[in-house]
This record gives sequence, structure tokens and C-alpha cells, in this order.
Amino acid sequence: MNPWLFLAFVVAAIGLALWVPRWRLRRALAAPFPDEWVQILERNIAIYRNLPDSLRQQLRRLIKEFLHQKHFTGAGGLAITDEIRVTIAAEACLLILNRPRRVFPALRYIIVYPGAFIAGHRQVDEAGVVATASRGLLGESWHNGKVILAWDSVLRGSRNFVDGQNVVLHEFAHQLDSEDGGADGAPLLGGAHSYRSWATVLSKEFKELRKASYRGRESLLDHYGATNPAEFFAVATETFFEKPAQMARHHAELFEVLQAYYRVDPRQWQNR
Ligand SMILES: [Zn+2]
Repeated sequence: MNPWLFLAFVVAAIGLALWVPRWRLRRALAAPFPDEWVQILERNIAIYRNLPDSLRQQLRRLIKEFLHQKHFTGAGGLAITDEIRVTIAAEACLLILNRPRRVFPALRYIIVYPGAFIAGHRQVDEAGVVATASRGLLGESWHNGKVILAWDSVLRGSRNFVDGQNVVLHEFAHQLDSEDGGADGAPLLGGAHSYRSWATVLSKEFKELRKASYRGRESLLDHYGATNPAEFFAVATETFFEKPAQMARHHAELFEVLQAYYRVDPRQWQNR
């Protein structure tokens, strides 16, 4: 074959391979948001009706993109429905409102169980013995583009948006955290100044929570956040969205850095 013809063929094939996914996404985004999906949002996302119209529109667009890109699989006998897909997508996308970014670019699969699931983690101890730790879980976030969720907990968390417990916000905060390569409680922020104040405030608050947890003292943030900095960020995210007024009052600096990061003020959506 003529080498120039071959080169032209390769260039055309690459161009097509790049263009087709973008064209398919544009088509998915241009499609109207189904009425049934709006009903699901109104039924399952407690704060949906309280969102200002501009955020509701953004959220609907993000949901379409999320559902176009991510693959849902039912496990433990659960059949995936639109209700499951739209509810999970909506809550995950609350975390990425008001920012020009791709929708959880590293995430590809969402696996949903009907209820708490058993995860078998193979662990190798110092003597080289492989043990499998089994425990009932409500959610799990993996670095390799996977989130696992228990549907009954998802629904409980999305319908009650004031108790500080929300498994979708929690697991997707872990996804944001791992976008920079490691789950360490510091997601991609942009700007050295942000990292300095982020590190100062979060490490101070993390130490406080560890102290409270150690002494068995009650705290606004769930004691599970004292496990490590990654869990602290995920728990603080749940509290920021579900108990924003209390956080602003009792943990003002923490509220401020999280508000700068998430670019929303959930106080405006609560208690309406
Ligand atoms: Zn976690």
C-alpha cells in the first residue's frame, strides 16, 4: 500500500475514534431530561426541591453525563433500575457543582448490592500468611475506577439529608480524594496557598476528632473520621452537606475551606 495513503488512513481512524465518543456525549446531553427522572429526584433527593433553579439545571446536566459514562452493575440479586442510577448519580454530582471539571474521570463502574455486603480483602501479614478479612459494608471506593454501594443505605441517606450520614457523598468524596493519585484527605485543590490552608485546618480538626474519639466525647463529625485523613475528609464532606449550619457555627474554619472547595453553601438548601 502507498505509505501516504496508509498514513492518511491511520490519521482518519484516530480522528474518528476521538470524534465518535464526543459526538455520542453531545447527543446524550442534548436529549431532554426525562420526566420520570425528575420524579425520582423529587422523591429520593431530599434537598432537590430546595436547590436554586441554576443548580438544579446544572445537576440535571451532570446526571446525564454521569449516566452516559458510568456503568452500573447489580450484585447479590439486585436488578439495576433508573431509580437506582438516577439517585446515585444525583448525589455523587452534588459534589461537583459549580466547577468546570470532568465528571469523576477515573470512575467507570458502580456496583450496587441490595443491602450491606461482605467484602473479602486478602491481607498478607509479616509471616506471609494470607488472610481474608470479611465485614459487612455499606460502601467502598476503589482506586481502580470502582465504587460499591448498598442500595438500602443509599436510599436512607438520600431521603434523610440532615443526619450527617450519607454513603454516596462519603464514597464519592474518596473518589475526588484519589484523583491526585493517593487517598490522603487532600484532593486536587489548585494553588499552593489552598494546600497550605487546607493542610493546616484539616490536620488541626483531624487531631481534635481523634482526641474526642479517644475520650469517647460526642462530636458533630462522626468518630469514624478519626480513622485516618482520608476518612476524615469523607466524613467532613457528609457533615458539610448535611449539617452545614452546625459546622459553620462550631467548626468555622473547616466549613470555610470545604465551602471554597465544593463551591456551594448547603445552608441555603436546608430548613426551607
Ligand atoms: Zn471511607
